[in-house]
Amino acid sequence: MDSVKDYIRTIPDFPHEGIMFRDVTTLFASPRGFRMAVDQLVAPFAGQRIDKVVGLEARGFILGGAVAHQLSTGFVPVRKAGKLPGAVIGEDYTLEYGQARVEIHDDAIAAGERVLIVDDLLATGGTCAAGISLVERLGGEIAGCAFVVDLPELGGRALLERLGMPVVALCAFE
Ligand code: 5GP
Repeated sequence: MDSVKDYIRTIPDFPHEGIMFRDVTTLFASPRGFRMAVDQLVAPFAGQRIDKVVGLEARGFILGGAVAHQLSTGFVPVRKAGKLPGAVIGEDYTLEYGQARVEIHDDAIAAGERVLIVDDLLATGGTCAAGISLVERLGGEIAGCAFVVDLPELGGRALLERLGMPVVALCAFE
């Protein structure tokens, strides 16, 4: 058990038949695994100016909070529609089946702030691209997008790189 990937459990047929769900709760539950993951997410950005970490609901909150603490930045949640109490801006995006919407408080990022986006897993990149758009609409600059898992076949990394985003992923499942 010496790489982050070793701590991730695969659950077949969740949430639908035919899906291999990469379950990071086993990584989060391991003191060694969780520390390794947070340290490796932080390392590429440690020397840079980062003002805010944005975590994508929900597992991005767990990782992003720890990353923000380690980088001594603020933490900002991007949440599913209707969850944030203050004034928000929202972004709609397409899921495999249907539409989704994510929101951010409209005063959470100041113009010119440098932002690191954190989530557990990159699949099609739709969720992260929506988060990027929210941050950029508030005037923030994206320093990078950091994930524990990349599913390269789903094209998310290619999409984010086409948008000019630095992408960090700690491991990949083909
Ligand atoms: P995307 O928008 O890149 O297609 O999907 C990524 C989002 O879906 C992330 O917020 C991630 O948490 C969630 N997700 C999709 N598939 C999986 C999976 O197999 N495991 C985990 N842990 N999250 C997933």
